[in-house]
Amino acid sequence: MRKKIAAANWKMNLTVQEGEKLLDEILKDKIVLNDNQQAIFAVPFPYLQIAQEKISGMKNYFVAAQDCSDKKSGAYTGEVSVDMIASLQVTHVIIGHSERRANFNESSQMLADKLNLILAKGLTPIFCCGESLDIRESGKQNDFVATQISESLFHLEPALMEKVVIAYEPIWAIGTGKTATTAEAQDMHVHLRNTLAGHFGDKIAADISILYGGSVKGNNAVELFSQPDVDGGLVGGASLNAQEFCTIIKSLP
Ligand code: PEP
Repeated sequence: MRKKIAAANWKMNLTVQEGEKLLDEILKDKIVLNDNQQAIFAVPFPYLQIAQEKISGMKNYFVAAQDCSDKKSGAYTGEVSVDMIASLQVTHVIIGHSERRANFNESSQMLADKLNLILAKGLTPIFCCGESLDIRESGKQNDFVATQISESLFHLEPALMEKVVIAYEPIWAIGTGKTATTAEAQDMHVHLRNTLAGHFGDKIAADISILYGGSVKGNNAVELFSQPDVDGGLVGGASLNAQEFCTIIKSLP
């Protein structure tokens, strides 16, 4: 049975003091997660250790890095490797967020390299995909997203693919307050699952968690998460507010 996940993406927001306060406020709620539910906090690199310490001992709470280097180690000033992230006991890494693809020219091959390093270290990648408004308006979103998936994921052995979490994030819905309708989200998630099934088989496709991202809020999470193929959300803006994010966690089915 696939996991239902509420993942916070803090992006480049909050000082360490503000981040600690936010996490304390959320954890104070002591939301009990069942075996099938997870809450994940993707915090800035300098806060990984503090966040990891705060959630330790809390069942099904995890910390994620927001990115990692596509190189294993060496003379890459300013980069953060998967080994460094793993050495903090952090378990998840987001890759391929549209902001990184657009602002840092991250290619499908680069993401495949990151994915290989993350999986080789036994961590869980949260692989983001999603189309721009232009592509959506031209009706080519299904082909576009399937290409993102095939170019970065199809080289994986099925046993490793099973460990990947996918986040479908239409770019036109990120940080815009414009949420995909439940039907748009569900349709794309079915398309993603069919794309995965075509290459990896039905069983693996059925077991992979596919999150929706794009202006998820406390007041729309229940409806989005009630869609049969939407397995939770990757949440930007609303994850910076304790009450909102607690509501989103509690909206997990
Ligand atoms: C995101 O950055 O992954 C995101 C979905 O942002 P927001 O929730 O603010 O749209």
